[in-house]
Amino acid sequence: MKFVKLSNKDEVAQTAAELLSKLDTAGTSPVVALPTGKTPLQLYQRLVQLQNTGQLDLAGFTWFALDEFCGIGVPRSSTFGSYLETHFILPAGLSVSSLHALDFNSTDANAEAVRYEQSIAKAGGLDLAILGIGHNGHIGFNEPGTSFASRTGPRNLAPRTREANAYLFADSDMPYTAISMGIGTIMEAHRILLMATGEAKAEIIHRLSETDPTTALPASVLKNHPNCVVLVDEGAGARL
Ligand code: PGA
Repeated sequence: MKFVKLSNKDEVAQTAAELLSKLDTAGTSPVVALPTGKTPLQLYQRLVQLQNTGQLDLAGFTWFALDEFCGIGVPRSSTFGSYLETHFILPAGLSVSSLHALDFNSTDANAEAVRYEQSIAKAGGLDLAILGIGHNGHIGFNEPGTSFASRTGPRNLAPRTREANAYLFADSDMPYTAISMGIGTIMEAHRILLMATGEAKAEIIHRLSETDPTTALPASVLKNHPNCVVLVDEGAGARL
């Protein structure tokens, strides 16, 4: 795991966009797992700008949302599929069919998870997984305690995670459940890029840097990955 400390959010976004643009997939169309949340917003802005000015061609890429809320009454506008369309796919002029998202309406989360794993395999597997990190060290919605061997499946959201995402559910009830790519699924990506920005992430990034792989801190599994880079800004890297 390589930590790269940059001076601000824009540099994190720029560096992540460069890594994406230089992705070497040996001639096959790139397959990338995408995070949501506040952290990757600048990256999506940057990718939209590069795509719309012809500096990057993302048309042949296939995208998979990392995770999704799931439950009765989840409005589509609060979903991660909607977020990725709104902040990235549509403004970049990319085909909506290039984005795979988990079905937030699914009444059988296990079956939906199996379908998703099959779609990832059919696309040729993940070339790159771009990740954020929760305050408790989660990646995707894999909360502390999740097995490192886990595959895509239903997850219960930790109270801290529900608090952090409450802003997405101002007009509806915050769900207790989600579906997430598994830790085992994420670890099969050829490259991993984790981004963390802002002082509120300084503590978890410090813990991540100090902790040997343990399910108590899910992101620590990435230390077992041969090609993982962690991009932090000055705030998130303050205790490195
Ligand atoms: P954030 O979420 O980017 O909104 O902080 C990160 C995460 O929970 O993975």
